[in-house]
Amino acid sequence: MSELHACDPAPEPAALRHMRAALEQAGHAWALGEVPVGAVVVKDGEVIGVGYNSPSGRHDPTAHAEIMALRQAALRLGNYRLPGCTLYVTLEPCAMCSGAMMHARLERVVYGAADPKTGACGSVLNLFEQERLNHHTALEGGVLEQECGQLLRDFFAMRRAQSKQQRQLAVGTDQHKDAHA
Ligand SMILES: [Zn+2]
Repeated sequence: MSELHACDPAPEPAALRHMRAALEQAGHAWALGEVPVGAVVVKDGEVIGVGYNSPSGRHDPTAHAEIMALRQAALRLGNYRLPGCTLYVTLEPCAMCSGAMMHARLERVVYGAADPKTGACGSVLNLFEQERLNHHTALEGGVLEQECGQLLRDFFAMRRAQSKQQRQLAVGTDQHKDAHA
C-alpha cells in the first residue's frame, strides 16, 4: 500500500517559472494603478509574448493581460494562430480572453487564481469544455493560486484604504471650513 495521498501532482518547475513571469507582469499593472493581472505566452520553453492588464490607462476595454500577450506573441511569430503555445495568466480568463485564445488555437492555458465574478474557465461558466467551440485549447488552473490571489487581495485592500483616507480627508476639510464659517 502506498503512503501517498491521492492529490494533484505538483506543477512542473517550468510552469511555476512561467507563472512567476506572469506575476512580474501583474506588478507592472499595479505600478500603473491597474488591477494587477499579468500574462506570458510560451513556445518551446521561450517567452514570446508578455502583457499586463491596462484597460484604464489605454482607454481600451480589451486591454486585458491575455490579449496584450497574445498580440505580442502573434506579431513575434507573424501568425495570428498560436499552435504549440501555452499562455500563463495570474487570474482565470474572462469570456473575451478565452474566446481570443480559442481563435488563436492556443495549445494550453494555465491560470493562477480563480475569478468568481467573470471567470470563463469554470467559475462562472466554462467555455473550454464546450466541444462545439473548442477543439484546441487545454486548460489548467490553480498554479501559484495563493500568490496570484494574494496580489489581487492586497491591491483591493490598498485601494479601499486609499478611498477611506480620501473620504476622511474630505470630511476633515469640511469640518475645517465649518470651524471658520
Ligand atoms: Zn479577459
